[in-house]
Amino acid sequence: MLNNKNDKDKNNKFDDNKFKYIIYYAIAVTLVVFLINDYVVNNQVKHIKYTEFNTMVQENQIKEVQIASDKIIIYPKEGTKDEGKVLYTGKIAEDEELIERLKKANVPYDGVVVKQDSPIKSFIVNWVLPFLIFMALGRFMFSKIDKKMGSGVMSFGKNTAKIYAESETGVTFKDMAGQEEAKESLVEIVDFLHNPKKYSEIGAKLPKGALLVGPPGTGKTLLAKAVAGEAKVPFFSISGSGFVEMFVGMGAARVRDLFNQAQEKAPCIIFIDEIDAIGKSRDGNLGGNDEREQTLNQLLAEMDGFDSSKGVVILAATNRPEVLDKALLRPGRFDRRVIVDRPDLNGREEILKVHIKGVKMSEDVDLNAVARSTPGAVGADLANIINEAALRAVKNNRKEVIQEDLNEAVEVIIAGKEKRDRILSPKEKRAVAFHEVGHALVAALLTNTDPVHKITIVPRTMGALGYTMQLPTEEKYLITKEEMFDQICVMLGGRAAEEVVLNSISTGASNDIEKATATARSMVTIYGMTEKFDMMGLESTSNRYLDGRPVKNCSAETEAIIDEETLKIIKEAHKKAIDVLTENRELLDKITERLLEKETIMGDEFMAIIKGEEESAQEEE
Ligand code: ADP
Ligand code: ZN
Repeated sequence: MLNNKNDKDKNNKFDDNKFKYIIYYAIAVTLVVFLINDYVVNNQVKHIKYTEFNTMVQENQIKEVQIASDKIIIYPKEGTKDEGKVLYTGKIAEDEELIERLKKANVPYDGVVVKQDSPIKSFIVNWVLPFLIFMALGRFMFSKIDKKMGSGVMSFGKNTAKIYAESETGVTFKDMAGQEEAKESLVEIVDFLHNPKKYSEIGAKLPKGALLVGPPGTGKTLLAKAVAGEAKVPFFSISGSGFVEMFVGMGAARVRDLFNQAQEKAPCIIFIDEIDAIGKSRDGNLGGNDEREQTLNQLLAEMDGFDSSKGVVILAATNRPEVLDKALLRPGRFDRRVIVDRPDLNGREEILKVHIKGVKMSEDVDLNAVARSTPGAVGADLANIINEAALRAVKNNRKEVIQEDLNEAVEVIIAGKEKRDRILSPKEKRAVAFHEVGHALVAALLTNTDPVHKITIVPRTMGALGYTMQLPTEEKYLITKEEMFDQICVMLGGRAAEEVVLNSISTGASNDIEKATATARSMVTIYGMTEKFDMMGLESTSNRYLDGRPVKNCSAETEAIIDEETLKIIKEAHKKAIDVLTENRELLDKITERLLEKETIMGDEFMAIIKGEEESAQEEE
């Protein structure tokens, strides 16, 4: 994931602090050592009076004497009071009988020259050298402790740990394949970071933050880095879980620190990974988590407080946008959403192409085949597959990667993931394809429906396994009864296709059923579209938002009849969907095959297939 440990620039700030610590530490140790040394030396070397010295000579207490140019150094005999110490006394030049007396007392004597060091040299030896030694030792020790504790003890209370700063990410949009939509929506931010003035001069405000939403491994971190790289601005990143500390208040301090650092370096990007770790919705869990709440509040305060015209943009990543606190999504905060979805067939091939750069590949490898065999795989999986294949080639003493390595790698990576991440089995995939084409075909073949924009069986972020998207040709303010009914037919078309083709039904239609039922019900209760109730209002929509539930304006008996009427509409629509699909069984099969092959079909192509079929049918006649 992020936090590339090899980046040289990361942790700049933390290094500065460490360096300061080491200097303080070295000064302290040098002082202490000097004082101890001084104490010991002072205790062992003692000055005595000349007369005392004379007495000692007389009383035969001296082992040896050394006579220097300006002093006399005396070593007392064992058993005397100053045993073990070194005594000294000044030399008195007038005392010419000293030697005589020493001779008489039988004390060995000697002359020495006490060298007087230059002050500079003694300063270096006594102070600078120890200081440097201790500093080197300190560095060594700190690095050990750092490694052992992560960012533990030494940075305690400093809040600088865990923020990773890169002055140049070196990643560009080229390193990010697929995800064209996501890139497009971030181009503006890149431009803004490039030249914040251009925007602030006009008075245009760019969003302070954007939320990158997508499953793990789809390249959210990579995308954020690419934005920084394209704009050539520094990149600060921290993980949401890194904020939440054991101690209340630490996370908030860390947020403050992050924003301070970033603002110094503006324009720049702040990237917060796993923002759901701090941004979880606060309602619902009473009491809650004080630390997380404080951290979240600090983040909100910082986001509101900073001046976006300076060019600080916050990107945050999550794979669970639905749990985020509403406050985070308010205008002026993360009000932009960039979906970073699982790549489709084309995207996967492009991603593979990015990752084979620098890997020696045999000329006949078929990346398209690899892409086809990895539906649902994300960028990180594909990067892994290429690496696994390269490792396998090395293991087999080959100089380049061949197709077999790739196939094997797909097995290793995908089989391992299938259990965890539920990548669809071929059978399931087929069912999903029929289901989606069912929706699309019913939509295309009924008259009162919106045209199909896109059909896809690439698993989506929000739990759906595939989807069919319809876009109205024009803005609509009124919906007719026929249109509503056909909408219900389209919703039920997915399940109908499963029934027609596979003769079995699955759980995949639960959402469709819910929506269809709600629509049918509102036809009965709100819009007065049944004969039975004529234009009688059975539910009021006015106070709906209070608790979200419609208010019933009828008796319990009537409610039972409403249910009957609703069921009647649904049954009718279900039958219509089945009829349409049975009549057009060939088209259903043909489009499903195409969808299985391509995973995503756009509206034009879809309509072209339908038209083609119609024309060939007419020719036959
Ligand atoms: P996320 O932050 O969404 O969990 P990452 O950005 O950490 O995912 O992606 C992990 C790795 O997967 C990236 O470093 C990159 O090698 C690879 N990857 C993911 N998506 C893509 C992509 N669209 N193009 C190229 N590589 C990708
Ligand atoms: Zn459906």
